[in-house]
Amino acid sequence: MTAAVREPDAFSVRKSNEMAGTWNLAGVIDEGADLSFLERLSGPTRLNMHGVRRINSYGVRAWIEAVRKVPVDVAFELIECPPSVVDQINMVAGFTGRGRVTSFFAPMICDKCGCEKEELFLTEDYRSQRRLPDVKCPRCAAVMQVDDLEEQYLLFAREP
Ligand SMILES: [Zn+2]
Repeated sequence: MTAAVREPDAFSVRKSNEMAGTWNLAGVIDEGADLSFLERLSGPTRLNMHGVRRINSYGVRAWIEAVRKVPVDVAFELIECPPSVVDQINMVAGFTGRGRVTSFFAPMICDKCGCEKEELFLTEDYRSQRRLPDVKCPRCAAVMQVDDLEEQYLLFAREP
């Protein structure tokens, strides 16, 4: 396998220029991902997970270890978690460390016309309303459903 082939999937993390304290994560978290930035965080931090495509089993272990090393005085949030990250949060104890998941994407499907899309939700909205806000299908305006076992997908959001 050449470096050029790996490139699009390679893990990267970039400090956002637009939002102070925000880091944008992207690519695949695997044995090659350098997660050492986590132990150097300072001040309130948001980790934008939207670009994370996949996390393999080595990556999960590396992530849990790295997230434990976030300095104790750093308050951090995981934002815009895509389904690949939400699945790990639900399955793996300690995945978020002391971090809070404040927003996440859910895969939505329209039962009427089959249209699919990912929608961004705030964890707080789900907690306060005990349900997801309605999402209208962009094609036929019917209310869309979570394209997964909803109870299971939202497990993390029900825990305080
Ligand atoms: Zn529809």
